[in-house]
Amino acid sequence: MVRAGTWHSQSMDLRALFDVQRLDTAINQARHARANLPELAVQTSAAGKLGTIRARSGDLSREQGTLESEMAAIEKRDAEIATHLARLEKQLKTVIAPREAEALQHQMKNLTFERESADERGLAILDASSVAETALIETRAADAEAARELAAAEASLRDAEKEADRVIAELSVARADLVASIDASDLAEYERLRATHSGVAIAEIKHGVCGGCHMDISASELDAIKRLPADQFAECPNCTRLLLR
Ligand SMILES: [Zn+2]
Repeated sequence: MVRAGTWHSQSMDLRALFDVQRLDTAINQARHARANLPELAVQTSAAGKLGTIRARSGDLSREQGTLESEMAAIEKRDAEIATHLARLEKQLKTVIAPREAEALQHQMKNLTFERESADERGLAILDASSVAETALIETRAADAEAARELAAAEASLRDAEKEADRVIAELSVARADLVASIDASDLAEYERLRATHSGVAIAEIKHGVCGGCHMDISASELDAIKRLPADQFAECPNCTRLLLR
């Protein structure tokens, strides 16, 4: 059976509260849209892209630095070897004992081998450095492009946020205007019901169905609702939302 008049107020304007609810729903939707703007996804993606490029730039710069240090070490060692070899050559001219000469030659051979290996490594470093330099130039171009894209995405996001804020403000003003003419206790009751009924305190009956819970209201219940005096309200027998006639 319909529980009619469980909550009633002689002067309560259910229609006005229904309009408040409509605005509240619109405000919620606008806030949700504001937090999930497509422009935000574009901006996040652009920021991520730029971040990836900058990380790659950093890696390449560090690689360049490592190669440069290694090259400097090779050059330093090469100079040391050159000095050492010159000294050994001088010494070789003065030794008489064949064993001593042999030992010096062996030493010189080892140093020459070390020098040749270092030269090979030096060439490999130059190659790697050239590859890294080319990649770095490309990365810098990509960085500039990605930075432009991000700036554009940020500008679009700011515009979209501004527009969303304007819509929310407009709806909020309309709500405040409407609420000004509604009894405070009626409004409080509406708020209480809204909080416990997933944002829908007042439901319309459409084709014999409650707009809040979408359950059928029987013919006899509908009939009883129609017979209620104008100052009384029926609750949905299923979800207890207030029914707008
Ligand atoms: Zn219902």
